[in-house]
Amino acid sequence: MSPWFPRWHIGGTCLLVETNDGLVLVDTGLGLHDYSNPSLMVRFFKLDFGVHNNPENSAIRQITRLGYTPNDVRHIVMTHLHFDHAGGIPDFPHAQVHVHQQEFEAMRHPRTLTELAYDRADFIHNPSWVLYDQPNVEWKGFKAIRLPFSPEMYFIPLFGHTKGHCGVAIQNNGGWIFQCADALPTNAQFDLTPQWLNRLVIGPNVTHLQAWASTHPEVLLLAGHMWKSFYKQHQQSA
Ligand SMILES: [Zn+2]
Repeated sequence: MSPWFPRWHIGGTCLLVETNDGLVLVDTGLGLHDYSNPSLMVRFFKLDFGVHNNPENSAIRQITRLGYTPNDVRHIVMTHLHFDHAGGIPDFPHAQVHVHQQEFEAMRHPRTLTELAYDRADFIHNPSWVLYDQPNVEWKGFKAIRLPFSPEMYFIPLFGHTKGHCGVAIQNNGGWIFQCADALPTNAQFDLTPQWLNRLVIGPNVTHLQAWASTHPEVLLLAGHMWKSFYKQHQQSA
């Protein structure tokens, strides 16, 4: 339990998608190195957000328990590269890492306070990057970038939390999952935090996403951090 915000008992959302080109992991959460050799930043994060210090919660261990091998994960799609989303990238050294060009540049040349949350240890193995820039299609009213997988997947630029932060829309059994990551407050609850705090930490997209969500009930909206009870319900945790 967090000593600062007793309600904030959260996990990080990672999605595993079976595609025509092997497994695609959307965000990795913390990786094994964050458990065995955590940086100061990671230690504070774990304490603050009530993250159990148990490497069994890492994506690689969860994927292995599902019966896959790490090499089955051929692609990693990143909403953004903050340490709590990218820590598991080195656990899948053979995977291609898909990310927006602006996010890649911000990670390479950190300048602002939030850019201190990029952890070099997550990229030290020099992964094979696949970079995206201009939107080329539309998805349900958003400018979108089609990702090369089936089922259909799109990057939806939602800049603000970081310079190249993107949501990821994934076709799912006739419906859609829209992982808005850190463009939404915890648990995708629009009334959880005041607007000024949203604008400061999460970026400028919250109001638009709220209006959009009210007209798209067929889409499951996810945030990068949900209450642990949500993951338990869905038999997933990170
Ligand atoms: Zn973030």
